[in-house]
Amino acid sequence: MSLFPSDEPCLVVVMYHFIYEDPPKILKHVPHLKLSVFVEQIRQMKSAGFVFDGSVSLSDFILNSHVKGPRFLLSFDDTLRCHSSVVAPTLDNENVKGAFSVYTKPWEDGQFTSLEMQRLIQYSIFHYDKFLEVFFETCREKLIISEKDLEKIKPKNENITACTNLYPNDKFYSNEERFFRFIRDEVLKFKDFELAISSMFEKYCSQDDLHKELYMTRSDAQALAKGGHSILAHSHMHPFSPAGFEGNKVYEDIIKNSQILSKTLGFQPNGFTYPCGIKTKDYASALQRAGYKFALTAGEYNFSVIDVPQAMSIKRVDAAQFDLTSQSMMAFVNHI
Ligand SMILES: [Zn+2]
Repeated sequence: MSLFPSDEPCLVVVMYHFIYEDPPKILKHVPHLKLSVFVEQIRQMKSAGFVFDGSVSLSDFILNSHVKGPRFLLSFDDTLRCHSSVVAPTLDNENVKGAFSVYTKPWEDGQFTSLEMQRLIQYSIFHYDKFLEVFFETCREKLIISEKDLEKIKPKNENITACTNLYPNDKFYSNEERFFRFIRDEVLKFKDFELAISSMFEKYCSQDDLHKELYMTRSDAQALAKGGHSILAHSHMHPFSPAGFEGNKVYEDIIKNSQILSKTLGFQPNGFTYPCGIKTKDYASALQRAGYKFALTAGEYNFSVIDVPQAMSIKRVDAAQFDLTSQSMMAFVNHI
């Protein structure tokens, strides 16, 4: 059963991260969507409307509806290797095309972004309670941090329960995860967080095969583009919060990403995906300066709400919340 009227154009963009039937051992604790569920979702979309298949350009598909009724776009974030190794062959089988949002830091000297470092350390190395303890000890040891802030980031019950009502749109987070995000976004600045998380990463993560298993390479991205898929820009560093990442820094980071993508693909993508859904004035003006025509957000929430054209603020539904029969799906529909 479909919720959508069959004659009014509307766009639904689904956001995916890790997809595996069986993840490689080194990533086995990373939260992921089962490949079989992914295939089921594609088939549901196909029966409810039109799924992007590359027969028109992506910007035309997004901005100028060529079909009546609902149309669907599958989008994949964060330069992940499973997108070229697992997702692309599946899309080929289903005769649809995807939009892959690529951040470029991993293509410089085998680097990891702090986003992926925190994702791996949070879920792969320790039990979550232990992770919060080790994170706290690392901050105490490595950062110059006031007694007052140190008290705020201590993983004790009253601090954790104080975060219960934060991030109300992200229903699947535990209170401990909310507390960690509060530390990251509200207490520590980008630099301090990156310092703490990278020193934990060096100490506890074996990095030998990790980079190769985690990230797609430049030639993987070239193969996706050659196969008719779309590549979207997604910043270079992938900041996770506007704190400590503002002003010209945003523009420079966007330009660096554009340049690396242009050099790799032979063209600059005309669409952008906000890293972690961050949407601020700095991003709005930087994207305009850099010549992007449309931009995807993460979910329906944003760190700060700014007034931009709808094309620069396209909502997405997380694959974990994807349910075509649910009324809550309507929050993610773009009336373009
Ligand atoms: Zn991302």
